[in-house]
Amino acid sequence: MKAVIIGGGIAGTVTAMALRRAGIEASVHEAYASGGEDAGAFLTIMHNGMDALRAIGADGPVIGNSFGAVGLELVTPDGRTVDRRSYDLDGLPGPRTMTRASLYRTLQEEAISRGIAIERGKRLVSASPGVARFEDGSTAEGDILIGADGLRSVVRTIIDPDCPPPRSTGLDVVYGYTTDTSVPQAPSIYRMVQSLHAFFGYTSVPDGSTYWFARLPTAEGVRVGLSAAEWRSVALAAFDGEPLPAAEIIRSTGDDVFGGHSYDVPSTPVWSTASMVLVGDAAHAASPAAGQGASMALEDSVVLAQCLRDLPDAPTAFAAYERLRRARVEKLVASSAALSSGTVSDEGRNWLYRHHIEWDETITA
Ligand SMILES: Cc1cc2nc3c(=O)[nH]c(=O)nc-3n(C[C@H](O)[C@H](O)[C@H](O)COP(=O)(O)OP(=O)(O)OC[C@H]3O[C@@H](n4cnc5c(N)ncnc54)[C@H](O)[C@@H]3O)c2cc1C
Repeated sequence: MKAVIIGGGIAGTVTAMALRRAGIEASVHEAYASGGEDAGAFLTIMHNGMDALRAIGADGPVIGNSFGAVGLELVTPDGRTVDRRSYDLDGLPGPRTMTRASLYRTLQEEAISRGIAIERGKRLVSASPGVARFEDGSTAEGDILIGADGLRSVVRTIIDPDCPPPRSTGLDVVYGYTTDTSVPQAPSIYRMVQSLHAFFGYTSVPDGSTYWFARLPTAEGVRVGLSAAEWRSVALAAFDGEPLPAAEIIRSTGDDVFGGHSYDVPSTPVWSTASMVLVGDAAHAASPAAGQGASMALEDSVVLAQCLRDLPDAPTAFAAYERLRRARVEKLVASSAALSSGTVSDEGRNWLYRHHIEWDETITA
């Protein structure tokens, strides 16, 4: 069997590595011409995502290019720390933080070192059973097509032209990096600050610089095409005057500020046809609140490869994959949406973090 994978992001590269480990040939076709796109944001892979990488022996390079955290602190609008949670879960691999660009690069380099072909500058425009067609006029042929092409997946619309579009989460998210080491530090923890109007989180990088984000309740389309300085001003305005570290950290940040509106995909009714299937954000995208989108994409990738390894044909494998994945990912998207809107607290997340994939387990139909 030969798999053509569309998208060389998180799900695409890891699906290719997992398929290779399962003895299935795969090639990756990425729209962007160079590696490490979308460099703006940073992200965190939680215990379950690291577990999925470990299942295929790909956790080492990610650990080597990231930094860890031992827990999370919650701070109230008046500056009091009201909760502390440990990430030490009986020796499970803990969360790792890195820039998105670094994660993409790390996974792509690891995939290439395992002999996987990643073709860049290949933007999928259409597909039919057995053949993918790209914007530059070229094609790729395979027995199955895997859509790992993210939030605005083209493969999703090929599988089901009536699939619902991504939904606004009602949040703009602003990310920044400051190298000013005199701002309040949060070494080895994620400090989350619920202010009166918005939510702020930050963590210290081992070199003393700080990664931060702000989630600002905003309707879709209100802030479009803002410059770094404008995003910084918007974020600053949300926290200025409060007895919190947010404003000081934002003020110390230069042009390393990136912002945009965020979306989710609560449920994609059709995940597959006889020869096409979706993984990661293409199938289900969560709001950034739960910090789980990448981890879910990693879980999908490994489980899909197990199904294709163990089951006799693609349709049976796709059915098993959906049976194993749909309820979990849709629960996560719903829980992240509730977190975004502040209707639930970030508690009871063991069902997420303690999820374990045993690579050698045999999947049955
Ligand atoms: C602001 C923000 C913060 C986030 N923070 C976190 C976090 O802390 N932790 C976490 O777990 N998750 C986080 N997420 C979610 C996470 O980024 C996604 O869930 C994850 O990237 C999904 O991986 P993916 O491979 O499915 O999609 P992507 O990483 O988006 O990769 C899709 C790839 O497909 C390519 N592509 C798209 N269209 C085509 C096409 N037509 N042809 C060929 N290639 C194509 C793209 O260029 C891209 O490389 C965050 C998301 C956002 C927006």
